[in-house]
Amino acid sequence: MPENQVNSSPAVAGQPPAIAVRGLLKVYGRGERAKQALKGIDLDIPRGSFFGLLGPNGAGKSTLINILAGLVRKTAGTASIWGHDIDTDTRLARAAIGVVPQELNLDPFFTPREALEFQAGLYGLPKSERRTDEILAAVGLSDKANSYARTLSGGMRRRLLVAKALVHAPPVLVLDEPTAGVDIELRQQLWAYVRELNAAGTTVVLTTHYLEEAEALCDRIAIINHGTVVASDETPALLRRLDRKDVILTLGADLDAAPAAFADLQAELLDPRRLRLHYRPSQMPFSAVLSRIQAAGLEIVDLSTQEADLEDLFLELTRKRVS
Ligand code: ADP
Ligand code: MG
Repeated sequence: MPENQVNSSPAVAGQPPAIAVRGLLKVYGRGERAKQALKGIDLDIPRGSFFGLLGPNGAGKSTLINILAGLVRKTAGTASIWGHDIDTDTRLARAAIGVVPQELNLDPFFTPREALEFQAGLYGLPKSERRTDEILAAVGLSDKANSYARTLSGGMRRRLLVAKALVHAPPVLVLDEPTAGVDIELRQQLWAYVRELNAAGTTVVLTTHYLEEAEALCDRIAIINHGTVVASDETPALLRRLDRKDVILTLGADLDAAPAAFADLQAELLDPRRLRLHYRPSQMPFSAVLSRIQAAGLEIVDLSTQEADLEDLFLELTRKRVS
């Protein structure tokens, strides 16, 4: 466990949030090709949180992260990291954040040790303050410390990127879709380590398009879609708003139409032998749904349930916002 996450401190009332974003706007390109990637983002990420930034591909997650990291220039709005404005207090803002980029952009001819030493040099860390070996051990790369990056597996490269982001002991660690190309075992290791960092006080921001991933890890989730934040809440509260499950029945005989008796369950015939029902777990326990199915006398060959998926959630939240 890194001892010197010195900048980290638990959430304290009166301190500025780990990240505060106001009216953030980003337009890529100009003229007819102009693409509005962020349409006025307002967001507070509390100190000490494990924060999920959840949204489908193209939502604007990386754009937001890259603006915070100083890699993309914003069009308008303000952002501050650990209380430091990214425009007027750039150096301190930059020092307060470590970003693990979505792309695996490693120099193939650097070893992990060299990559971390180089990174430490970029941040002007004197030799005495470097903790290259400690970080390599923490991400499980001690064995590979002196191997060229090009010889590392995808999972190892991802962990090397995490290590690079930690070199300057930032109080805020941002991981942009870090599980792409990482197998399950390494993913578990990565999460275990990031959880430890969070428990020790590091604010962690994770972008993902997997609801389950955000649900499992994050104490707060903001949902971003088409460059707009459509929801931001504590994870349990957000999931309660979801309150929607699907049941798919495989039938023993063909139907012509969805039975009228299931109209309140928004019955939908997917094909003559597959019927989908929607219900709200808070309103109707699953056992009640089962009783209804039995009462209808349908011959059921198979049955599966599904949580509402992310697309449904986006639609729902977006609809609620405009209505
Ligand atoms: P996400 O990370 O949520 O998948 P991005 O921030 O990468 O979303 O992209 C948001 C939108 O901005 C997308 O429509 C994407 O095509 C566009 N975009 C991203 N980067 C660029 C760029 N460098 N030039 C033009 N458009 C871009
Ligand atoms: Mg992205």
